Amino acid sequence: MRAHEAGALHGDLGYRGPAWLRTPEDVNALVPQLWPRTVSRTEAGSLQVGGVSVADLAAEHGTPAYFLDEVDLRARCREFASAFGDADVYYAGKSFLCKAVVKIVHEEGLFLDVCTGGELAVALAAGFPAEKIGFHGNNKSPRELERALDAGVGRIVVDSFDEIARLTALAQKTNKKPKVLVRVTVGVEAHTHEFIATAHEDQKFGFSLAGGAAFAAAAKIIDEGVLDLRGLHSHIGSQIFDTSGFEVAARRVLDLQAQIRDARGVELEELDLGGGFGIAYTTQDDPQAAGDLAKRINKIVESECELGNLRKPKLSIEPGRAIVGPAVFTLYEVGTVKDVDGIRTYVSVDGGMSDNIRTALYDASYSATLAGRTSVAEPMLARVVGKHCESGDIVVKDEFLPADVQPGDLIAVPGTGAYCRSMASNYNHVPRPPVVAVRDGASRVIVRRETEDDLLALDVG
Ligand SMILES: *Cc1c(COP(=O)(O)O)cnc(C)c1O
Repeated sequence: MRAHEAGALHGDLGYRGPAWLRTPEDVNALVPQLWPRTVSRTEAGSLQVGGVSVADLAAEHGTPAYFLDEVDLRARCREFASAFGDADVYYAGKSFLCKAVVKIVHEEGLFLDVCTGGELAVALAAGFPAEKIGFHGNNKSPRELERALDAGVGRIVVDSFDEIARLTALAQKTNKKPKVLVRVTVGVEAHTHEFIATAHEDQKFGFSLAGGAAFAAAAKIIDEGVLDLRGLHSHIGSQIFDTSGFEVAARRVLDLQAQIRDARGVELEELDLGGGFGIAYTTQDDPQAAGDLAKRINKIVESECELGNLRKPKLSIEPGRAIVGPAVFTLYEVGTVKDVDGIRTYVSVDGGMSDNIRTALYDASYSATLAGRTSVAEPMLARVVGKHCESGDIVVKDEFLPADVQPGDLIAVPGTGAYCRSMASNYNHVPRPPVVAVRDGASRVIVRRETEDDLLALDVG
């Protein structure tokens, strides 16, 4: 079956060719791991999610818009929670946070990470229990730390000596003993883009392990006895497919744990290995299932503990992208189609780098499909670009779209749940798109579309 035949549901599931070799059969293909799980095509050829066709969604909510498959999001939460068993799974809120999503991750039993006062405010406004919140960030202000203490946030992940001093003073003043983790920079080179790798030595996050700062930070907290040091934390980066990075990180951080025990007689009870689990943005990406990740990570920690003669600490992990990324696609309308002779065809949509900065910022790859209909036209190499005044305003670098793609067509880009709406901007005064949750044949706006009035309301002249 040619994947782009009318009514075709899924393409060649096993296809793993290099991007430039994407076959015509890939055109319009819906590869399950790229798309939220309730996505399929209607008999008439339109994409649908949660039982609602994208044509109806576009008519009701306009474009561009992010559509969240609620069934898929809940399933991903549950898969991580059950795969990791007695580990605490923190949803990394920075990937995408709004009150509806906070409620969903809470209902599905997850914990929640925030890294600013703003994210904390959203979590608390949605009624998320403070004791299940972890607070991150390399420059938490005194005000933010105060609010975290006031609210009774469960874990504060300390990131600098300045922060330890600040938090210690606050704890003394308020007579509280906040539970903290020390963020350790383990020196792992994660095989990912430089800007999303976070554990090599030369960067802003955490206390260096090799330089001795991590040990000094833990020792200081223990010696002062004001903060309650629960354990160590390591986050090696994002969009990681290979668990060997976690293996090295776990080994190094558990070595440090053994060193702390030997020097101070304290056996730390918790270990947070961070997030960063990769997802599929194109058919080239082959992410691991939560179950496989959990097995590997547990095995790594167990064997490292055995080697170091340590009790196995209580584990936590912090997936963001892997929970919300694949549950969302962005729907755009095509505005212009420009054939640049012999090179490629530029398909301009009604959004762009303001709703998805990842292509420009990280050189990220995305895929796209003609969403409102299918086509039997020949495939053509296309670049999906936005409407901003910037030649780097690219949404999808390379994709085959049917040659008859035209203004008014709907284009869907999968994998946009994480770090797209949360990183959205108002560049060129383009209002930010809404987020719409779809489930059981109904859609509901969970973040409304920004309006020009919203933009003007901030501009006080
Ligand atoms: C960003 C971040 C995460 C989440 O990363 P994902 O790639 O979305 O899983 C987890 N922990 C920390 C400390 C982070 O900074």
